[in-house]
Amino acid sequence: MAEPPVEAQSDPLATPAARRDALRSRLESAEATAMLITGFPNIRYLSGFSGSSGALIVTAQGPDSLVTDFRYAGQVREEVDPSIESEIHNENAMSAARKWLTRENHAKVVFESRYMSVAEWMDWKSSDGPQLEAVTGWVVALRMRKSEPELIALRRAAAVADGALAEVMGMIRPGVTELELAARLDMAVIEQGGEGSAFETIVQFGEHSARPHARPTHRKLARGEVVLFDFGAIVDGYASDMSRTVACGRPDPEIESVYRIVLEAQRTALDGLCAGMSGRDADALGRDVIEAAGYGPQFGHSLGHGIGLEVHEPPGMSRLSEWRLEADTVVTVEPGIYIEGLGGVRIEDVVRVGCSAIEILTSAPKDEFIVL
Ligand code: ZN
Ligand code: ZN
Repeated sequence: MAEPPVEAQSDPLATPAARRDALRSRLESAEATAMLITGFPNIRYLSGFSGSSGALIVTAQGPDSLVTDFRYAGQVREEVDPSIESEIHNENAMSAARKWLTRENHAKVVFESRYMSVAEWMDWKSSDGPQLEAVTGWVVALRMRKSEPELIALRRAAAVADGALAEVMGMIRPGVTELELAARLDMAVIEQGGEGSAFETIVQFGEHSARPHARPTHRKLARGEVVLFDFGAIVDGYASDMSRTVACGRPDPEIESVYRIVLEAQRTALDGLCAGMSGRDADALGRDVIEAAGYGPQFGHSLGHGIGLEVHEPPGMSRLSEWRLEADTVVTVEPGIYIEGLGGVRIEDVVRVGCSAIEILTSAPKDEFIVL
């Protein structure tokens, strides 16, 4: 099951230029001559630019343009696809983009409603800029299917997190605090070659682990308690996300039995996951096992989510998900059971969906409940 999918094919979306061409082909159907991109993960995906201020304009006929400010001039030279015209401005990116579009005679422009504030939209409406039309999901639809360069980064991000966890396992002992282990894990991610943690690292002991996303605290670990880790690394802008649950000394027997149920749910989901399946059907693979064991109400979150330039991105796998899992989509599979007052168990891996097999990117041990 860990073998890479054999059906991996050529890579039509491997470069920022090819991705912009794919986007360009949608502009005609919207009867617009340009698209304004203001979501930073989308700007990065389409141009290479990793800055946190700027706007990208993709036009039907070319050229495309990136506007940003003085702080990013060096980064633009290093990162941005040279076929994009870059402009450095000393005003905010949105008004710089509006002026560029007006100057280039674009009458109708589509924009990403998810990434424009109401204030920015009102400001634009009261200007003499081009007509705006909101669209959603255009870029994320391309981003779902990972190209080979993206898969390389995702595999490395998963390997960095595996290595970091292995380093920190030796520090689990009575008296250590959640915050100490979280800080060690963050440092280990960097020592393993990551650019940093993908999100705020979660380390939870005992009854804290029953709250899926609680922050680490100064709480000290006692013998017989669960230790739940949920964290990830960033490599080349791409995130990993993994959870492991272990114990410091024998925990309550219910925790051990819950661990076996969660593991069984995860295995069943990993065995059943395949390209073409809906997010809802994927969610049911793991959820059915947990419900059959009588813990349905204690599994209150979704089975998993897409991952890439963002930790959470489509396709989601939940009871309501309408997304379809395409080949080369990368998702997490993370069933969990949470018992208030006692503790929780979650096991999470990052996997690449294929037509005939999946590739599991994370590899930290999980097949036996680890009791230290
Ligand atoms: Zn996670
Ligand atoms: Zn996750």
